[in-house]
Amino acid sequence: MSSDPIINGNSTISPRSSVPSSTQPMKQRIDLMGLDRGESEALVSAWGLKPFHGRNLFKWIHKHTVLDFDAMSDLSKAVRGRLQREAQITIPRAVAEEPSADGTIKWVLQLADGQRVETVFIPEEGRSTLCVSSQVGCALECRFCATARQGFNRNLSSSEIIGQLWYAKHRLGRTPTNIVMMGMGEPLANFEAVVRAMNVMQDDFAYMLAKQRVTLSTSGIVPNIQRLAKVSDVSLAVSLHAPDNALRDQLVPINRKYPLEQLIPACRAYLRGEKRRRITWEYVMLDNVNDSDRHAKALIRLLEGTPSKVNLIPFNPFPNSGFASSPKERIDAFRMRLIRSGLVATTRKTRGDEIAAACGQLIGRVQDRSRRHISISVDGLARAR
Ligand code: SF4
Repeated sequence: MSSDPIINGNSTISPRSSVPSSTQPMKQRIDLMGLDRGESEALVSAWGLKPFHGRNLFKWIHKHTVLDFDAMSDLSKAVRGRLQREAQITIPRAVAEEPSADGTIKWVLQLADGQRVETVFIPEEGRSTLCVSSQVGCALECRFCATARQGFNRNLSSSEIIGQLWYAKHRLGRTPTNIVMMGMGEPLANFEAVVRAMNVMQDDFAYMLAKQRVTLSTSGIVPNIQRLAKVSDVSLAVSLHAPDNALRDQLVPINRKYPLEQLIPACRAYLRGEKRRRITWEYVMLDNVNDSDRHAKALIRLLEGTPSKVNLIPFNPFPNSGFASSPKERIDAFRMRLIRSGLVATTRKTRGDEIAAACGQLIGRVQDRSRRHISISVDGLARAR
């Protein structure tokens, strides 16, 4: 693994000390990594330069993963000089890289303030997916989630979000074909930074990812699903995990604030009547909790009339989770029942088991700030104690 810099403004990969000396303190420099194309053009326009310099700068950073201002050959000397004096490009530093036998790679990335997040690369036949984090920790306390055990620390900036993709592209030498905002954190609780980063992901002068190839996964913050519909058209996935409010209130506590009778219409509205699009519903299969025939029937009823794909996820156990994964036969039977009803349903292949590839597990090995323990009653409801 390379020892990459956290901050760089002068060479492609070099230590922090190579940043050019300046009379301006570092904290006043503009971080270019977090700017979308329009903001990059606006920056150079404000310097009295033609906006196309901003577009070229944006392209050097994201399309070519070049950080050395001197190597940006189509920028004038004046622009490069100004960048040297006033700008920086912040990238994360990998403090752990854990490859799995199936090709999955998990990186623990350290941010400029020492906080750490996880980013996971998952190669498959004909495609590859990067799972990107949006927060350090998470405040939403989903009962089966390793990240929830760490508590909430802070939102990531747009620079820190897009920096994960930049890092993966730089490290792998290619852009992953798909992005899922499904790593640590609730992306819709960090709305502006996530939207700006997703705009960069889709930009033709950056990573060129089509809207179908960028998926935002939310636990169901209804007002921000409605807000997202007005400013973005990325694919939407929802962490559903239960077909009724009683069980979902327990597994995904945000449901108490935004129950299913609000969530389902908001998701339908997000599709805006486009025939080819659908919502992906994530459904973690928890042994004797949400995996019975009764739950399958309730799920079919719940999703009736909503273009849907259900993604069944075998639970990836972590210490003291209080849950076990449903057996394969039950997952298969659950999926077949959904398919027979006309739903599209798949089972997520378990990837990177030996590297704790589920969200938050690697960092979660280190700490459990919530100190929460879960008991499961015979009626299938999870109870915190
Ligand atoms: S599943 Fe997602 S929203 Fe829920 S606690 Fe984990 S990271 Fe947060």
